[in-house]
Amino acid sequence: MDLSQQNIAKLREMVNGDQQQIVILSHTNPDGDALGSSLAWAESLRRAGHKVTCIVPNRFPYYLDWMTGVKDIVVFKGDREGVATAAVERADMIFCLDFHTLSRLDAPLSELIASNTKAKRVLIDHHLNPAESFDVMFSHPEASSTSYLVFRLIEALWGADSVTAEQAEVIYVGMMTDTGNFSFSSLTPDLYRTLSILSATGIDIPQIYNNVYNSFTEGRARLFGYVINRKMKLLNKGTVAHMSLTEEEMRRFWFQQGDSEGFVNYPLTIKKMRMSAIFIEHHDFIRVSLRSRGKVDVNLFAGRYFEGGGHKNAAGGKSFVSMEETIARFEQAVKEYTAEGLL
Ligand code: 5GP
Ligand code: MN
Repeated sequence: MDLSQQNIAKLREMVNGDQQQIVILSHTNPDGDALGSSLAWAESLRRAGHKVTCIVPNRFPYYLDWMTGVKDIVVFKGDREGVATAAVERADMIFCLDFHTLSRLDAPLSELIASNTKAKRVLIDHHLNPAESFDVMFSHPEASSTSYLVFRLIEALWGADSVTAEQAEVIYVGMMTDTGNFSFSSLTPDLYRTLSILSATGIDIPQIYNNVYNSFTEGRARLFGYVINRKMKLLNKGTVAHMSLTEEEMRRFWFQQGDSEGFVNYPLTIKKMRMSAIFIEHHDFIRVSLRSRGKVDVNLFAGRYFEGGGHKNAAGGKSFVSMEETIARFEQAVKEYTAEGLL
């Protein structure tokens, strides 16, 4: 992956001058990559002398609470709307990390961002088809995570030696979570070169793994068993799977935000499985998560049928009809996709 030298030069000019007020924004339902990339980037900008506020639209999962600096991230949909609003209003620069369209922020945060017309905007992201225009764009769908992209930018601007163990740790979290612990998507030689540099800072990699993947609640383990046993339905001769979770079912298993993370991947452990979906009921819509193997394109599927998008093998969207209708719509979409030879 090559970074545009022209863009690096523009970025260098933007961050190497006088103190700036900077906002770093990431997406709704922030994950390890959203937080890891934001925290590492914020730290380098602060060291360069800037005032930085990290903002996410809503709360992140409890198993990421341990990450260094995470307590300083302003969660917009909590009690921090005022702090976030003030930071956005005075910002000279806004960095958008790990998302490609302002619609991933939801109103009123997306409107608030749109209302600041003086700030320079920079995109650092690895999703397909960025929707808005930015002053500087680092859009790299071939990159396995935004955290890896942030590492490459820090390296280009300040050198790999400038990366501290705290930064290495949060970058590692982003790289690990977006690649399923280095099991899929763009595992390039340069990714392993990066891991070697991160590891040399002395970070405790097994501990990071445990913090993220072995820190769930009992309720999550029981909910997982229930979903796989009772709710997983197979279609197309066992090559497509779907599952669903209602609010009532989540309450039954003492659901906490983040508890359903990763469920959608599990059906893909079945031989010959090509696509997996989970539908999760929220207060006023149903969140759709999709995963696929090989050439099956769920980014296209999510865009066509569920007002969403993402990556070729991992995408998501929303449904505004009932659970029964959502499932019926999915099954119909699978039929269409199959008839077109896309599945
Ligand atoms: P997840 O299933 O983990 O929530 O999301 C998988 C991928 O799809 C992520 O890269 C995420 O950014 C993308 N994604 C999830 N939900 C949406 C959505 O509503 N709209 C768009 N455009 N992308 C989404
Ligand atoms: Mn990501």
